[in-house]
Amino acid sequence: MYELEIERPTTVADAVSALGGEAQLLGGGQTLIPTLKQRLADPEKLVSLSGIADMQGISASGDTVEIGGGTIHADVAADGTYAALSELASHIGDPAVRNRGTIGGSIANNDPAACYPAAALGSGATIVTNKREIAADDFFQGLFETALAEGEIVTAVKFPMPQQAKYIKFVQPASRFALVGVFVAKFADGVRVAVTGASNDGVYRWSEAEAALSADFSASALEGLTVSSDDMVTDLHGSAEYRAHLVKVMTARAVNAA
Ligand SMILES: Cc1cc2nc3c(=O)[nH]c(=O)nc-3n(C[C@H](O)[C@H](O)[C@H](O)COP(=O)(O)OP(=O)(O)OC[C@H]3O[C@@H](n4cnc5c(N)ncnc54)[C@H](O)[C@@H]3O)c2cc1C
Repeated sequence: MYELEIERPTTVADAVSALGGEAQLLGGGQTLIPTLKQRLADPEKLVSLSGIADMQGISASGDTVEIGGGTIHADVAADGTYAALSELASHIGDPAVRNRGTIGGSIANNDPAACYPAAALGSGATIVTNKREIAADDFFQGLFETALAEGEIVTAVKFPMPQQAKYIKFVQPASRFALVGVFVAKFADGVRVAVTGASNDGVYRWSEAEAALSADFSASALEGLTVSSDDMVTDLHGSAEYRAHLVKVMTARAVNAA
């Protein structure tokens, strides 16, 4: 790692003031610290978000659960207010990752195989930043790309709670990331289906499955659908064709389990 400064503000306003120049936000460090160790980034300063009390915790109001951007995966896993989300969090990485990694860091990083982006997109969540609120449909913009501006901080994520929901991932056993993961959420006005791990463009909604499941919320409603392997990821863990196959299988399992 390069020599660098670290600041530990206790308010969002102080974090914003600490940014500038070659400074970078630090959430749980589960992605950023390995990146620094490999010398793939060399910020002059890290601005840690872990001491900001306003970015911690989980609260529910009506059918919405709001999770502070600095909340660690282990706390989401233990909460249980939005059961499908808590279960998702309980299967992220390993205990070390879950006790440091944060929902804000995961959403901001938008790793194409990460779990929270599927939950946010599948639930129709709203990403709250220090500047604005962004619908998940507009937030995720491709591999590691989001609508965030330079230095914009994810302070919270608001999830509308569906009638039924489930996340199922086919685990990449070395990392516990999703080889393919599917989040299915059934609301009064329709079903949302978000897929992670599969596409070269990162997390996406499978609109054909949403239409079929909105008409008939059962795995059999998916039977006539085909998933194209065009634009799917091929790597040493699986081919594009294998991932396309998994998308349909994981969706059916999520519907059955929901
Ligand atoms: C071994 C291992 C296994 C993992 N398995 C999984 C898995 O199964 N599923 C899964 O989804 N993830 C997995 N992860 C990733 C993990 O969930 C991390 O928590 C996540 O990638 C990054 O969150 P973080 O809080 O550690 O962010 P950091 O590493 O601190 O930051 C990541 C990026 O986000 C920025 N950032 C951080 N917080 C904010 C914020 N609040 N607002 C704006 N920008 C911010 C940083 O500047 C940086 O660019 C795994 C990681 C490891 C190391």
